[in-house]
Amino acid sequence: MQLSIDLSGREVLVTGSDFAARQAVRRFEAAGAVVSRLSTPQGAGQDGPLPERPFLVAAVDDGQPGWEALLDRCRTVGILVSAEPAAGPAGHITLVGGGPGSAELLTVAAVAALRDADVVFYDRLAPCQELPALTSAELVDVGKKPGHHKVSQSDIEKLMVESALAGNNVVRLKGGDPYVFGRGGEEVASCVAAGVPVRVISGVTSAISVPAAAGIPVTHREVSHMFTVVSGHAPLTEKEHTHLAGLGGTIVVLMGIGTLHQLAAGLRRAGMRADMPMAVVERGYRPGQRTTIADLGTIATAAAGCSNPAVLVIGDVVKVAEANRGTAGAAADLDRLAASLMEA
Ligand code: SAH
Repeated sequence: MQLSIDLSGREVLVTGSDFAARQAVRRFEAAGAVVSRLSTPQGAGQDGPLPERPFLVAAVDDGQPGWEALLDRCRTVGILVSAEPAAGPAGHITLVGGGPGSAELLTVAAVAALRDADVVFYDRLAPCQELPALTSAELVDVGKKPGHHKVSQSDIEKLMVESALAGNNVVRLKGGDPYVFGRGGEEVASCVAAGVPVRVISGVTSAISVPAAAGIPVTHREVSHMFTVVSGHAPLTEKEHTHLAGLGGTIVVLMGIGTLHQLAAGLRRAGMRADMPMAVVERGYRPGQRTTIADLGTIATAAAGCSNPAVLVIGDVVKVAEANRGTAGAAADLDRLAASLMEA
């Protein structure tokens, strides 16, 4: 028999070990009850009165001996006693790199983790459209709330940890690689702090794969033997412009549309030549993928209509793509343009 009682404001004493009782505590709190805890039968004293007289005793079956005597006393004095199941073994969290947006670029390990998940918290840039085909888990979009406000980082961490502590096998699916501007390190730290087992599955980062989608190799023999990946979230300092310009390698910028002007101007001031090739690759591996190629001196105007998500590439490797036109990247660009026209 199932009985629904309005517990708002009612005193509920949840008995049972902390581990076994964790789900019951959350359930009663969610129901509005004022929850107190007794984690060992000895805590109540053998014969004395209960600490306070609760409306209900929620007795979690934690396998410890000694609860029966206490519960019998409660029943004798007319306190309601309900039998509650113990929580299952604690869940764990897997941070999964989802690649740049196409399910084809998920790793085998990512696919396996998704298949085994109870709950998936995913970002806007992860391959979210394909998720229902990859997992039967509950899907939670933490990239956007219904009111279009992003869920804050600390709320995401809280949600993940709470879900794992409730016994769920949680996947946190992130765009690209979790450790490349993905706040993966922070999320691991909050799992560790909460005592939740956590592991990280690397993903294909957009820093390399999105230029590749446009046919641009980030390194190329005799053209560039290094690449630097920079966040354009905030404008760089003058010192950083100078260092970058001095390296002589490929510069890849993520989140760089908003600061593109400042970057181009800063690199020019730091002595980089105005005809240094530069590309903006928007929406890699998605419908509407587009590549804009210009140079440092002209990019601000050429990329005026570009929007996020986009990866910027600065360096002579951009020319390799132009030289290889008609092969992989350019052909893929055309395919995706055709696909997006079909969708429209
Ligand atoms: N952890 C991610 C990066 C997160 S920062 C990774 O390793 O790829 C978000 C930025 O990534 C975006 O602003 C954009 O610069 C880039 N990005 C991610 N996916 C992209 C895509 N499909 N096309 C273009 N840029 C993308």
